[in-house]
Amino acid sequence: MIQIAVYGKGGIGKSTVSANISYAMAEMGKRVLQIGCDPKHDSTRALLNGKEQTTVLSYIKSTPPYDRRLSDVVLEGKKGIKCVEAGGPEPGIGCAGRGILSTFDTLKKLGLDDVGLDVKVYDVLGDVVCGGFAVPLRNEYADGVYLVTSGEFMSMYAANNILKGIKNFDKGIPRVAGIILNCRGMDDEASTVKRFADAVSLPIIAVIPRSKAFAEAESRGMPILEYAPDSEASGELRKVAAHAASILEDRSRLLDSRPLNDEQMGRIAAGEEVRPNEAGAVIDGPACGACLRKKGVAKKDERIVASCAAAGAVFGCSTVTDSVTVIHGPRSCAHIMASSRNLSEIRRGRKRKSMSDPQYMRIDSTEMDDTVSVFGGTGLLERKLRDLILEGHTKFFVVTTCVSGIIGDNTVDVVTAISNEHPDLYFRVVEADGNILGDWEDGYIAAADAVADLVRDDVKQEDDCVNLIAERYFFRINEDKDEDAGEMIKQFGLKVNCRFMYEADMESIANFRRGRMNFIVNDDTSSRGVAKTLEKKLGVKVENELLPCGMHDFRKFAEKIGREFGIEERAATVLAEEEAIYDREIAELRKRLAGKRVIVESWYLHSVDWLIELILDLRMEIMFVGLGPDHYWKEKRTPSRYEGKVKFIHDYSPDDIVEDAERLCPDIVVGDSGRSGLTKVHHTSFVRAGVGVRCIIRFAKELADVTSVPPVEGWRSFGKECGERLEDERYAGK
Ligand code: SF4
Repeated sequence: MIQIAVYGKGGIGKSTVSANISYAMAEMGKRVLQIGCDPKHDSTRALLNGKEQTTVLSYIKSTPPYDRRLSDVVLEGKKGIKCVEAGGPEPGIGCAGRGILSTFDTLKKLGLDDVGLDVKVYDVLGDVVCGGFAVPLRNEYADGVYLVTSGEFMSMYAANNILKGIKNFDKGIPRVAGIILNCRGMDDEASTVKRFADAVSLPIIAVIPRSKAFAEAESRGMPILEYAPDSEASGELRKVAAHAASILEDRSRLLDSRPLNDEQMGRIAAGEEVRPNEAGAVIDGPACGACLRKKGVAKKDERIVASCAAAGAVFGCSTVTDSVTVIHGPRSCAHIMASSRNLSEIRRGRKRKSMSDPQYMRIDSTEMDDTVSVFGGTGLLERKLRDLILEGHTKFFVVTTCVSGIIGDNTVDVVTAISNEHPDLYFRVVEADGNILGDWEDGYIAAADAVADLVRDDVKQEDDCVNLIAERYFFRINEDKDEDAGEMIKQFGLKVNCRFMYEADMESIANFRRGRMNFIVNDDTSSRGVAKTLEKKLGVKVENELLPCGMHDFRKFAEKIGREFGIEERAATVLAEEEAIYDREIAELRKRLAGKRVIVESWYLHSVDWLIELILDLRMEIMFVGLGPDHYWKEKRTPSRYEGKVKFIHDYSPDDIVEDAERLCPDIVVGDSGRSGLTKVHHTSFVRAGVGVRCIIRFAKELADVTSVPPVEGWRSFGKECGERLEDERYAGK
């Protein structure tokens, strides 16, 4: 079987050409299927006596999957030609390109591949260059592509764009069959198209003259081969069919795609020659780092985008405890976003009822499916919001995704209309459109901006209140009272007013201004971004110092709190208590850990000074601290207070740790990249240990526990070097 695609600018006559190629090939005894991929769905009309057929997309829309049959969308036309029309959504709604993909998927599921065929002819709109309309260009569909053009510049321009599309998909295999000139009666039309054809090194397979017979055949619902079989036009169209049949026998007749660049196209338009060997010189786009990257290998010179802006926005909005965050998108997006939120909760040690239950995290979605993606989903959003209102929800964040963005759903209009009906309820849209805003962090900050809208201006500051900002998953906090940031604040006799962007209800957010001091918890760009948003939007000051992690930070924090709130005595008492606990516990753990050699590798954290402090207090030996590439972050890392005292390796890749660990045989590797793949040495991963001093003691206990068992079970056969050395040591003296 051969599959050919007939591409051309809208209105150039490619449907007429396609129908006549199909007809001529059927005359030759071939079993032919024609698929119209133009939303105006008139490709097969001449083969069906002028009759319109049900398009696949309208069929998908109206028929549930279990009721669908191939025979409902594949009609038999003249000479036994099988006819399909893809169709498209209403103009201005949904995504016609996505519709082509849905059509092909549906036909495949309904068993089109099992229908015995010699030829498939795709009739495709060629001036739309999105990925959906390029589907027939991909290898598994069209073997050969015919370009229909006239002598008009825009028509040749579209043909050249199709060549660019083919070049993107050809994987080095020739795919172009040739050019079909469909004359419009312009002066020098044949020579103009010849110049273009020569420049792109393609033959003109047929020159179809302008003829009234086409209109007459169309009005009778006939292909011209049937209406005027002996006409010159019919003769030319038979040439194309014969050419296609010859490709069926001999694929070496297919040619490479050599599109022109814009400057060369300009010269064609100006009537100049472009030599074939000049063509195709400047068409390469920027290389995609993701595709070039070897599997599982992080490139040192690229910043990796963690996740999409929509996911960041959902994460941020869903921290408001008495609201629902509605994801206007597919359920797969919702699942991914809920899972990642849940993962962060697990990292914090918070127990969740179910691993990925979005509702439990106050996340819901419009569950766009393929049909909605094609035809538009504003109705779905409206229904979802109305259902949630009936269920008693009163506060809503709505976050847009790639799909709602691409198909152009007007989310704001839908939400505004419902909000006007329910002035007592709260609605806020965050337009993230997948990655349009940027990455996860940009979405998270956009959510902070949305949540900050809730802060009231008429609230007075109180003397014993602080706000905590953007606590999230970079640290591991057990629900343990000792390690909770709020509990630490209470030790000083102060109140936590609002935990902004962390489990805060609307009331506490509205009263944000009661807080006299504002602290962020972690030194990452997202948290700093939220802080800057609040400073700019609300005119409040956010402290430059973080909530403390480790003894050094805690000392400074206690002094500052004492000064700011005039509670120096109490702060000194708290500090003395914490110092006593720290000294006692670390002294005990030192007995188990002193002298052990450590490699630290950090990819995610701005500062690991808390960890270095702890390791040094335990009298362990730091072999080196490998820090991931600075440009992973949007800002430079905070300089370490241990520069010059500890060996730092900057731009350290997590890929290097396996080799370094085997070569240097440390007693333990402490890393946060999670990519080390270490098997022969002790290894523990960390996220920022938490807030205060107790979390550090717990982390030290973990280090002692991890190093107290062999890195590899005795029954395993080790490799050489490090493993063998460890085994020898373990069994020495036996
Ligand atoms: S919004 Fe876009 S990038 Fe984000 S999960 Fe959905 S499809 Fe993926």
